[in-house]
Amino acid sequence: MQIIKRTTLKQKPEKGERLGFGQYFTDYMFTMKYTAEKGWHDAKIEPNEPKPFDLATSIFHYAQGIFEGMKAFRQPDGKIGVFRPNENWARMNRSATRMCIPNFPEDVAEEGLETLLKLEKDWIPTEMGTALYIRPTIVATRVMLGVHASTEYLFFIILSPVGSYYAHGLEPTKLLVEDFYVRSSIGGTGEAKCLGNYAASMKAGELAEEKGFDQVLWLDAAEKKYVEEVGSMNMFFRLGDEVVTPALVGSILPGITRKSCIQLLRENGYNVSERRVSIDEVIAAAKDGSLKEAFGTGTAAVISPVGLIRYKDCDYEINGGKMGDVTRMLYDTITGIQYGTLPDKNGWRKIIG
Ligand SMILES: *Cc1c(COP(=O)(O)O)cnc(C)c1O
Repeated sequence: MQIIKRTTLKQKPEKGERLGFGQYFTDYMFTMKYTAEKGWHDAKIEPNEPKPFDLATSIFHYAQGIFEGMKAFRQPDGKIGVFRPNENWARMNRSATRMCIPNFPEDVAEEGLETLLKLEKDWIPTEMGTALYIRPTIVATRVMLGVHASTEYLFFIILSPVGSYYAHGLEPTKLLVEDFYVRSSIGGTGEAKCLGNYAASMKAGELAEEKGFDQVLWLDAAEKKYVEEVGSMNMFFRLGDEVVTPALVGSILPGITRKSCIQLLRENGYNVSERRVSIDEVIAAAKDGSLKEAFGTGTAAVISPVGLIRYKDCDYEINGGKMGDVTRMLYDTITGIQYGTLPDKNGWRKIIG
């Protein structure tokens, strides 16, 4: 793979500095282009610098674009570990299909990622809870205002050293159940990791933040009755001796952390169901004490305990506002596999370098 070197390197954040999420970017990026004549071509590593774009470029107007989120973790022996990257490439191509973006060669993306990570190894932060966030993206680059799928695309991977996703780290989050705005509906794009989904969810997110909540808990668009997800995390509830997560009905993003948690729970003897779960069922369980735990799962936040939910102006505290045992077990297991401190029985850890 071609590597175009830069003459001066950027200043890296100081050791121990608060990294936040997605504020620092590394020296290099992977890029690859698509044109109708050539298909995907020109895969290379180049300096991560601003690029000029014509303002009529279609991505700016119609949001024909998709992304992924992964993390690289420094292993105890100094090597680089990535969690289930092949799952991300496969999902990215499913998102591409939904958004009329031509599928890309997954082996070229993986080779690009591995070359990039080896080059940027010194950017992987070392403190517990930190990682090098990986953001693969595809945007429509044809200069054209007609509402049609583009005939040109740019695929890129940028890297960002990150701390915990929420400013308060592993403290349980507060969720506001949204019963007016919707994130996605059946037949819409909720299953795809496409750019517009996030723009569409910002209004409700902002209103929730003004009221002191961390995130919105979305309900289904048709009936505002069934729990869907949190917009960057899938949801799990421990109801009595059953662990429930909303079934992937078409409007929910199929999370890789979600899938991994379902498998880990089953391997540990828990009774896990993927089914529709109504907000009324969750609230009734909160009232009668059978709602033992709630947590969200996603690459950015890993496993995030939920300490309180508000629905129709009533607050329901979960597990005394503290992290529960199942949440803790999943957090410890997934991070142990990611950071290379636990055995990786299922082969989820890809070691590079
Ligand atoms: C990315 C994302 C998730 C989490 O998916 P992971 O593969 O676990 O990182 C959940 N919901 C939405 C809407 C997302 O965009």
